[in-house]
Amino acid sequence: MGLSAARKIEVVTTVADLRARVAEWRAEGLTVGLVPTMGALHEGHMSLFRQAKMMTDKVIVSVFVNPTQFGPNEDFDAYPRKLEEDCFKAKMAGASLVFAPSVAEMYPNGHATAVDVTGPLVDCLCGLARPGHFRGVATVVSKLLLMVSPDMALFGEKDYQQLMVIRRMVADLAIPVRIEGAPIHREVDGLALSSRNAYLSDSERANANLMYKSLWQAGQDIAGGKRVQDALDWVADELVRLGFGRIDYLEMRDAETLAEMDSLDRPARLFAAAFMGKTRLIDNIPLEPRTA
Ligand code: AMP
Repeated sequence: MGLSAARKIEVVTTVADLRARVAEWRAEGLTVGLVPTMGALHEGHMSLFRQAKMMTDKVIVSVFVNPTQFGPNEDFDAYPRKLEEDCFKAKMAGASLVFAPSVAEMYPNGHATAVDVTGPLVDCLCGLARPGHFRGVATVVSKLLLMVSPDMALFGEKDYQQLMVIRRMVADLAIPVRIEGAPIHREVDGLALSSRNAYLSDSERANANLMYKSLWQAGQDIAGGKRVQDALDWVADELVRLGFGRIDYLEMRDAETLAEMDSLDRPARLFAAAFMGKTRLIDNIPLEPRTA
């Protein structure tokens, strides 16, 4: 794709150049927001950039496929990489700079030091299904926060557990940054936008939105008094009937602590992770107890 010079966004690949640019903005009294991504940007990411732009003067988008958050049998090599298109989309959605470091720039001395959030927030959901995943996420996000020193960093509720883990890490390490969450951006049929949706065949894509639809129905049923386990069992049956394969989890948990819940007596979320063909899809929806 040819981009005219006027439409090009500034791209930096080294920590030194990144810090120099942020220092210039700081000297001008400007505020800085950071939106970390793995690239292959879509409208979901762009909704985050727009939200960040409303909150801070300058928005930095990091594009880095972080090897340490992928398991040995996951899709690190296959993960889509489209930097030129990403730069265009970042610019279109209000970002001022793309930080696109190499693996060597991010991990010049290997992986000897890591940030590891432990305890109930990570001992469930994707923390169990993807051992080591949140260690990789916490490590790379803490590095990005130290490199940029933003006023605010924005994460999507699409990866709700990740948002909670990062909030906890920032609080525990007293990192001086505000962490904000953004709602899930969906296709018109309900499918949550994800870079991994590109892996879906046409027929898989046609049924992939049923994860959201069945979660939504279960949420209605639970709010209406159905037993939580019965509602979740129904979702599991639906997913299998509609072509999903392995289900990693299907659970209702506390919206703050992620503790398991068996009745809707406080704000909760329904969480799902399941394979459609070879593609692992995740989604979640909020659930509020009905006020009497
Ligand atoms: P990723 O590139 O998948 O690591 O995602 C980068 C950021 O974008 C994360 O904070 C995600 O939660 C967020 N994100 C990804 N997909 C969506 C979506 N459909 N709606 C809102 N945020 C999203």
